[in-house]
Amino acid sequence: MFKNLKEKIDKSFNILKENKITEINVSVVLKEIGKALIDSDVNHEIVIKFIKKIKKKSIGKKVLKSLNPKQLIIKFVYDELVKLMGGKKIDLNLSKNPSIILICGLQGSGKTSFSSKLSFFLKKKGYYPLLVAADVYRPAAIDQLNSLANKINVPVFYLKNNKNVLDIVNQSIIYSKNKNRNIIIIDTAGRLAIDDFMMKEISEISKNINPSETLFIVDSMIGQDAINSAKLFLKTLNIDGLVLTKLDGDNKGGVAITISNIVKKPIKFISNGEKIDNIEIFHPDRMANRILGMGDVISFVEKVQEQFDEKIAKNIHRKILKNKFNFYDLLDQINRIKKIGNIKNIISMIPGINKNFFDNDNKMSFEKIESIILSMTSYEKKNPEVFYSETGISRKNRISKGSGRSFNEIDKLLKQFNNMNKMIKKINVNSNKSIIEDFLSKINKK
Ligand code: GDP
Repeated sequence: MFKNLKEKIDKSFNILKENKITEINVSVVLKEIGKALIDSDVNHEIVIKFIKKIKKKSIGKKVLKSLNPKQLIIKFVYDELVKLMGGKKIDLNLSKNPSIILICGLQGSGKTSFSSKLSFFLKKKGYYPLLVAADVYRPAAIDQLNSLANKINVPVFYLKNNKNVLDIVNQSIIYSKNKNRNIIIIDTAGRLAIDDFMMKEISEISKNINPSETLFIVDSMIGQDAINSAKLFLKTLNIDGLVLTKLDGDNKGGVAITISNIVKKPIKFISNGEKIDNIEIFHPDRMANRILGMGDVISFVEKVQEQFDEKIAKNIHRKILKNKFNFYDLLDQINRIKKIGNIKNIISMIPGINKNFFDNDNKMSFEKIESIILSMTSYEKKNPEVFYSETGISRKNRISKGSGRSFNEIDKLLKQFNNMNKMIKKINVNSNKSIIEDFLSKINKK
């Protein structure tokens, strides 16, 4: 569904070739992304706000040395998309016994299909659902629900010769208690357009049974009209969530991106096919990932941002100023880099680090640095200056034996550690430089 959008966004990011974020290059990229969103049927005003927010975040932002501007802007776009689609997934409220789920929406939106899909989904999770056929106006509706439910072995409650919807619903609740069913899914009648009759009927059911969840089913194929129908519906009845159906079609996807922001209700499920298991809980983050298709870059940026947190950088800077930065701190920094992932795989994404760093035996790898530090005593780790006292040489000899590294390598590490301390004292920590990256690249130049 998002194929076109994804391709266009992909192209826009390629504009960011420079190593710096400037007002001009960000504006060009964001303009292209904006066009792509509008082409995908995303509301114009929303696109303008969206672009403004990313621009504000990006301009003047110093890029962490481990990242490049393209990666950072991808992450910003991703974050805003996630926010736009509701931020986080919202679960169904199924705390009551029985929990009643009222399904409503326009005719043909996919209510009956979704009701059976949801019952199957919940059955697999260990619930005991009961489907209720409350569409008394379309004779085929009861048969359709019965035939779908038969395939998945979920009981259906219906009253053949009774067209009183409130009767049906009330009796279904008694039935569910007798049959130990803990979820009741009520498939209500839809109409071609939202009208007083439909709203009155649903409002009466809702008042009568006080459902745990009222879900409004939205056919994503009908584009912006889907959003308008949801808005109209909400004028009369409070809903707990939206369900987007037919997301497998070749519609442009704009509804999925914007509806929850416009109507201020979360999307709880999506349906993406006619099969009984074509149903998914809606996760805004996964959807944003699908749209951008850059999961690797996004998780990489997240990890880098997490590990090179500005607060941590400032804390290290403070320690260095006070001559308190020691080998424990260095080990901690190395572990942070290691947590970013398989360095060999991601090394090409890091502009600051020499690409041969890990393959060349002459270079100092994390493992070598770690083995040297781990062979130090706790006192030595906390007090690096002892290596410059008269016991320094014997300490280095001992560490060399313990770590299996040469005396020269230990010397090189200590020298660099010392230089790093001196150098970092001069750096303004707000430049957000990763201290360890600088340190490592210096070691490798020697
Ligand atoms: P209702 O009138 O709201 O109950 O709608 P139905 O459940 O009868 O669905 C209307 C049509 O849409 C049926 O032909 C369904 O098979 C089809 N449908 C429902 N959900 C989806 C979906 O996610 N993808 C596709 N491709 N078709 C769907």
